[in-house]
Order: sequence, then structure tokens, then C-alpha cells
Amino acid sequence: MADVMFTNVRIFDGGGEAPFTGDVLVQGNRISRVVRQGYGARAAPVGGVQVIDGAGAFLMPGMVEAHTHFSWNDQPSLDAIQRMPPEEHILWCAEVAERYLDMGWTSCVGAAAAKPRLDVVIRNAINDGTIVGPRYLAAGQEITVPGGLGDTTRPHLPQPEFAFGAVVSGSEEMRRCVRMMAKYGVDSVKINLSGESITGMASEMSQFTEDEITTCVQEAKAWGKRVAAHARSTWSIKQCVKQGIEVIYHASFTDTEALDLLEAHKTEHFIAPGLAWLINTSHHASEWGLTPEVTRKMGYHRELDAAIESMRALRRRGVRILPGGDYGFAWTPHGTNAKDLEYFVKYVGMSNMEALLSATAWGGPMMRMGKVLGYIREGYLADILLIDGDPLADITVLQDKSRIMAVMKDGEFHRAPPVRSSRTTRWAA
Ligand SMILES: [Zn+2]
Repeated sequence: MADVMFTNVRIFDGGGEAPFTGDVLVQGNRISRVVRQGYGARAAPVGGVQVIDGAGAFLMPGMVEAHTHFSWNDQPSLDAIQRMPPEEHILWCAEVAERYLDMGWTSCVGAAAAKPRLDVVIRNAINDGTIVGPRYLAAGQEITVPGGLGDTTRPHLPQPEFAFGAVVSGSEEMRRCVRMMAKYGVDSVKINLSGESITGMASEMSQFTEDEITTCVQEAKAWGKRVAAHARSTWSIKQCVKQGIEVIYHASFTDTEALDLLEAHKTEHFIAPGLAWLINTSHHASEWGLTPEVTRKMGYHRELDAAIESMRALRRRGVRILPGGDYGFAWTPHGTNAKDLEYFVKYVGMSNMEALLSATAWGGPMMRMGKVLGYIREGYLADILLIDGDPLADITVLQDKSRIMAVMKDGEFHRAPPVRSSRTTRWAA
């Protein structure tokens, strides 16, 4: 692996400052030097370095997706996802993992898989170099109750029919389920605390007892696993704070108490609202029979309004809101994830800068790698994008693969920039 120096780039380092022109040196898998043009003494030349003249391109940290389902297969229903046979399914996940990296997502946080070990196997294959993909934290199946979101069993089929979610009832079944997931090697445990209107269970319903949730959290933590929750209802959001569930997905329906709780504990939680799901289910799924009339009756339009209001309030209170959420349905296909950043600007009131930070600076701690990931800084891991354009002026450039000129993960190019020079003598810092 050759060391790489990017020269003549506009550096967005993830710290919230305006970008500056300068050079970035990558040695091995780390960023070893970041130099502002015109500042300080010029460092000694470094031999054997591949020099890349960025010609003013925008250089930024690789993005982090906070709610990823590689195994959702761009189909219109949970059944269509779950019924994909395991052999095809693992190949699908491998292909999708590469798609994320292609689009500049150098890290993804798994938020549930459609079969017990899909995520774990994919994470391991990425880590050992068998397949190409982003850094990945693996989840298990989402944990649900009989009749809850993810219980796809049928009464006339032999029990227990394999379901989309892991179906448990009572604390002892919960304990067993979490232990099995720990055995499989997941990084996190995902629990469905609230409903999901498209499955026939209203988003404002909460399906677990407090005891079951406590058992889930205690058992997961005993095994060193993170807990993430599908939490749309107000009660379920409060449970996340009270029980110490670090990752809160959706958080649509809040009240003042919920907002106060989240603000008081804002350093302990990450929120990924998954607005893409709400927006596209409400307005762009007619082709699959979900006309706006249908989804309004389901309650999605009301939920979208509530979610936007909640996110605006949480943003004002300084709670960390991250991109990602339920891409992998027919009307939210994998690879279009950077739309979340546009939604943050358009609906939540973030500046382009805040939206960029939500995908970079906050992504490091979301990956539990806050000290080494999410910034262009000396000593940090070299996850770097080179963008043709300025996301601070137009956040939508990140949706266009042709504008993402280079993707580097862990010091290696997944996609090298189109023009490069291999001269080794010019270390201009
Ligand atoms: Zn999800």
C-alpha cells in the first residue's frame, strides 16, 4: 500500500470550521499530516508517496450511516425481504455493502438483519478482506413480541415458523434471545419498542413491558453489547432514556417530558430519525400500491409532521441527530442514503455544515471510534472522500456518485481519483 499525499485540496476536517486549502498526507492507514497552505515551516520531503493533485476538490471525512440494513433487499414488504433464501441473501448483502462504500459511506451501523447471522458474517468478511464494504457494526434480528412489528409468523404454518424478527414473550425468553445473539457475535441488540403503521400496529403503540426491556438491556450490557431501539411512540422514547438504550431510531412522537429527558442525557444517546422512510412512504410509494391516500390513512402523514417537529426541537436542544434509516425498501433503495442530509437541511432546519457534521464528526462516536474516526486530523484513520463540488454550498452533490471522485477507507482507495501523479519528490508541506 503506497502512502498518499493529497495536495491542493479544500479540507473540511469535521471540526465545524470553514474548509481551508492545504495538503493531507496518509501513511499506512492513518492521516499523518494535515497542513494549511501558507502556514508554518515546510516539512521534510517524504519519499515513495503517491501525490494526488486535487485541483481544488473538496476533501472530507468518509461518512457514517447510523441505521443500516444490508439485508433489506429493495423490495416493497417485510415478507419479500425475509423470504429471500439465505444463499441469495448473503450475496445480496455483499453487493449492497460495496454499494455503500461506492457512495462514500465508509462506516455503517447495522440496525437489524433479516436473518440471525447475515450481519455478523458480512462484517467478518469485510474485516478479513473477503468482500469489499464499509466498516460495519453487526446487528441481529430485531426483537419483537407475538403480534408485534416483525412477527411474520402464520397460525396455519408449523411453529415456530422462522420470522422476520426474533419473537419473544416474557423476560426469560428475552434473556435467551439476547444470549443467542451474543453467541452469534453481534455488536448490538435491536429491540422494537414501538409499532410501525405499515405492519398494522400503530407507531404510537408500545409493545414490550418495562420488565422485558430491563432484561434486554441488562443482558445485552452484561455481554458488552450496545442496545438500539425502534422507538416511535412517546412512551418508548422515554424508556430509551430511562433504561439507557444508547441508540434511538425514529423518536417521532415526543412530548415536553421526552424532549427534556433527551436534552438532559444528550451525550448518552444518538437519534437517527429515518426521515427518508417517512417521507417516501407518505409521498413516493404509489407504484407499490401505497398511494398518499393509503399512507395518510395508515397514519404516516401525521407521523411525518410529528417527526419533523420533534427533530426541529431536538436540534435546537443540541441532541445528536444522525443520517440513516430504513434504506433498502423499494421506495428507499440502498445507495440513495445521502438524501437524509438534504432532508435534514430542508425539514429539520440544519445548515449544510450541521448536516455534514452529523455524518462525520458524530459518526465517529456512533461507530464507537470517536477518538480515531470522523475527522481529517493527524493520527485519525484515513477514511477520506474527494468531492467534485462543495457540499457546504449544495448538500445534494453527495447523492451523485459521479461527484464522489475518490473513496478511501483505512488508507486504501476503494475508488482512486481519475487523475493522479506518482511523482515522489514533491512533499509540499
Ligand atoms: Zn430500520
